[in-house]
Amino acid sequence: MATRSLREADVRGRRVLVRVDFNVPMVAGRIVDDTRIRAALPTIEHLVDHGARVILVSHLGRPKGYVADDLRLAPIAAQLAHLLGRVVQQASDVVGPRAHAAAGALRNGDVLLLENVRFEPGEEQNDPELSRRLADLADCYVNDAFGAAHRAHSSTVGVAELLPAYPGFLMDAEVQALQRLLQSPAKPFVAILGGAKVSDKIGVIEHLIAKVDAILVGGGMANTFLFAQGIDVAASLAERDRSAGAQALLHQAEAKGVTIALPIDVVIATDLDGEPSTVAAGDLPQGHAIFDIGPKTVENFGKIIAAARTVFWNGPMGVFERPPFAAGTTAIAMAVASSGAFSVVGGGDSVAAVEQVGCVDQISHISTGGGASLEFVEGRTLPGLAALAASAAKQR
Ligand code: ADP
Ligand code: MG
Repeated sequence: MATRSLREADVRGRRVLVRVDFNVPMVAGRIVDDTRIRAALPTIEHLVDHGARVILVSHLGRPKGYVADDLRLAPIAAQLAHLLGRVVQQASDVVGPRAHAAAGALRNGDVLLLENVRFEPGEEQNDPELSRRLADLADCYVNDAFGAAHRAHSSTVGVAELLPAYPGFLMDAEVQALQRLLQSPAKPFVAILGGAKVSDKIGVIEHLIAKVDAILVGGGMANTFLFAQGIDVAASLAERDRSAGAQALLHQAEAKGVTIALPIDVVIATDLDGEPSTVAAGDLPQGHAIFDIGPKTVENFGKIIAAARTVFWNGPMGVFERPPFAAGTTAIAMAVASSGAFSVVGGGDSVAAVEQVGCVDQISHISTGGGASLEFVEGRTLPGLAALAASAAKQR
């Protein structure tokens, strides 16, 4: 899917509507992690430096078409102004009279942030009327919200059909990194998959089996595979009704010559506050649950990762939020970081785990889009990207 580069666009004096993903974690009205705001800075700074009149639009949380005062974007405007070192104007509506007045009064290089686009009931329906009103604010459109590219909403798809549309620099970087995984991975290509559930990620595993040399499975997801192999997983989180699906994936992998490595030892406890101990994966006592991969598994996975030239990681190896069950995830993060492989980490909790370990700088690409990166790796067409490609085709 070909798009055009924002660098080719003449933006001076033009009003540019930029869809950004400022959906940052907030606690009691304060931003706890501004990664997503910082990730959008290159695009915003490029536009400012080239004399555009920048109109930013984002969602925050799930207000479901109603105005929710705790989901207003004022704290985000303040943090953005701090990071940019310039004034960020704010509109108290999305496409209403205040947004129109503010957009119309912008001078070259000014930055305006509209109110939370999900306050508009039409946003999640990709309502044509809302798309038209968004398009009326601007002369062209940039989508830098990779994290929302798997949604067909007014601000990601509808408006892209009405204005000349370009991907932002973050969008480009995300697509390039993920495309490199799927189209031309240096071999061996190793996928590390974990997290809570298999059912969230069956499509990802199926698609990856055709691309990778090995899949290392940890986290709650591994329990379902262990169970499918006839191992008693006792009180562990496992999707027992997915046993047949897990078995089918093991067979598919075998037929393709792809290694699926499962935990050989595990860290268990009666509950998350219980005393942890390590046992062989087949020796789980009743009333105990698996909360992390064990040291022998870490060693085994580590060897495979060390030999890899491409790594994709999604999903923690255990309940890493709890220190007694974080060792597996920490060790795998360090193994990926020191592998020298082209490495991509995606998924909200996986990225948090890598940040917790402090090895972000040694990962080739950290995806800002959880659901979007998974859908991309599943081989699905993301509506936001398709809309950009369609716009590019129209301009040619
Ligand atoms: P991501 O956000 O990176 O895609 P997921 O949301 O799929 O990852 O999974 C992360 C969650 O899985 C974490 O909250 C973690 O505690 C949980 N988890 C991992 N291993 C286990 C396990 N063995 N039992 C229960 N929960 C687990
Ligand atoms: Mg998650």
